[in-house]
Amino acid sequence: MQAIGVVESCFKEKFAIPRQPGLTPSAEAIVRLLPPYDKPDMVRGLEQFSHVWVVFAFHGTADQGWNPTVRPPKLGGNKRVGVLATRSTFRPNPIGLSVARIAGIETDDGVRIALTGADLLDGTPVLDIKPYLPYADAIDDAWNGYADDGSLPLLVNFSPEAEVTLAALADQYPKLRDLICEVLAQDPRPGYADDPVREYGMHLYDFNVRWRSTGHEAIVTRVEAR
Ligand code: SAH
Repeated sequence: MQAIGVVESCFKEKFAIPRQPGLTPSAEAIVRLLPPYDKPDMVRGLEQFSHVWVVFAFHGTADQGWNPTVRPPKLGGNKRVGVLATRSTFRPNPIGLSVARIAGIETDDGVRIALTGADLLDGTPVLDIKPYLPYADAIDDAWNGYADDGSLPLLVNFSPEAEVTLAALADQYPKLRDLICEVLAQDPRPGYADDPVREYGMHLYDFNVRWRSTGHEAIVTRVEAR
């Protein structure tokens, strides 16, 4: 198999990408088809669908191999389950699967499929794209097992300094503030570390977003150009 496209994403590093798509509807990504697949014919009719499945390679972790069991963050990071009972990136075949909303399709110069809500790292190689078919893919009586922990989202607040920076960026990056809120509400801190003094940083678009967290709140301290 070879990549048919590559992802340009607002998520420039793995840290702070949500655990699944749909948790951050303001996240923007573009799948740019690669030659010889970059033909308008390849996506003819795709505009009739609201969402797509993206099948991709976990290129950012593929060199770290795999394990028969993993410790999902949802279980507090201390209980093991089989890799096939998880959506871990450390799989025998490092293949990812994400559903995302189609925001637009451009075919003037190559082919670019704009997506929202995708949990994809910048540079992700795309192996396949298929339309999402609600009549077959949406299952009303399905359940989540251990992945459903019912934890509440964090409240997200901004320092006056961060608000000033975001206001100045609003024209060029209209979704940045909402994106920060959605990402931090998921509490991306590793291993439930609860250190209210520690400042964390994440790379969104061309910015380093700095924040602190207490148990129930995240405060964005600064948004800096990188
Ligand atoms: N929805 C996918 C991914 C779930 S795991 C699936 O179920 O297969 C979610 C994690 O994938 C995120 O935390 C992000 O850090 C990671 N991720 C996204 N794109 C990646 C890539 N190209 N390489 C490695 N990890 C990636």
